[in-house]
Amino acid sequence: MNNLTDRFLRYVQQDTQSDTETGLTPSTPGQMIFAKKLVDELKEIGLVEVTLDENGYVMATLPSNTDKEVPTIGFVAHMDTSPDMSGKHVKPRIVEHYDGGDIVLNAEQNIVTRIADFPELAAYKGQDMIVTDGTTLLGADDKAGLAEILTAMEVLMAKDIPHGKIRVGFTPDEEIGAGADYFDVEKFGAEWAYTLDGGPIGELEFENFNAAGAKITFKGRNIHPGYAKGKMRNSIRIANQFVTMLSRFQTPEHTEGYEGFFHLMDMRGDVESTQLTYIVRDHSRERFEERKKELIHLVNKINNEFGENTCSIDMKDQYYNMEEKIRPVMHIVDIAEEAMKACDIKPLIKPIRGGTDGSRLSYMGLPCPNIFAGGHNFHGRYECVPVQSMEKAVDVIVKIAELVAKR
Ligand SMILES: [Zn+2]
Repeated sequence: MNNLTDRFLRYVQQDTQSDTETGLTPSTPGQMIFAKKLVDELKEIGLVEVTLDENGYVMATLPSNTDKEVPTIGFVAHMDTSPDMSGKHVKPRIVEHYDGGDIVLNAEQNIVTRIADFPELAAYKGQDMIVTDGTTLLGADDKAGLAEILTAMEVLMAKDIPHGKIRVGFTPDEEIGAGADYFDVEKFGAEWAYTLDGGPIGELEFENFNAAGAKITFKGRNIHPGYAKGKMRNSIRIANQFVTMLSRFQTPEHTEGYEGFFHLMDMRGDVESTQLTYIVRDHSRERFEERKKELIHLVNKINNEFGENTCSIDMKDQYYNMEEKIRPVMHIVDIAEEAMKACDIKPLIKPIRGGTDGSRLSYMGLPCPNIFAGGHNFHGRYECVPVQSMEKAVDVIVKIAELVAKR
């Protein structure tokens, strides 16, 4: 087994599931344990300036091996896995020479990756597919990225390819939107970087959503139902009215490409009080601002109908579309595209319907497009990654380093 696959299989067995509720960075102790192991490994393969800070951020340097003036670039991946599904006791399995059909993940529990549900997997026929046992996620998001970056650094050293200084950054808590919170851009010291955190082979992304989160609270008044006429105010029903005032088609399940949405993520309440949790997403900054105004407008409408302070909103911007920061330095995307083509990969440039560490980092002064790490079906039991896609990601990293030094 090569270093890349071996690394990946080791990494996914580390429980690094992040947690939205702890308020700590890293949000879970497993991430710090993993970070320490990565530090050891980075030193072992020969990287220098290897650091780990109290928030779990790992950084390291592959020094330049050329006299030429070459800009310092970076590669970034995240150590945590999604809070949506358990990342504990992950039991990865390699399906060698995948036949392009259904994959039985767990015969006992009858958990099967059906090609009817995931037809895109058929393209990997003949390759080696790493899958779960159906009871956890895999964690290719983003342990594939980590394994690829480390392996690429090894390849660069072994092959003696001329390259400039390269910085490596591993972050905690990307999955809970906090991956960039304590990222020290100045200490990282790269002119630009790439996150390896995307899906299928070829993905190259420099546009993502503008994003906000909103908690909307409805206050009611509870009265014995037998005596409620003209007195009771049922906050659940008012919240329900609010929900139906937003277009039912501007939702994740009805939109794609550059279309934005309102996503009702959570609804909980009783007669006295009901809370709705929404996320607001749009690639266009202008439409994003309009969407936020629309929510406030609807809150006011509810208050006009049911009385002042019936409804209140607590809304915060989460991240912005990195396109604004990438356009002025578009050559960094061109280099990645060129590298993919040189590695016989067809670049798939498309807007991310989400965010990445890279979008926040771009606004913090480190322009940071995203490159595929190779996986499919993130955040769930059907997550999988072809070994050959990971190998290609390693090739792309190496080629980028080479191209930057040649310019
Ligand atoms: Zn990820």
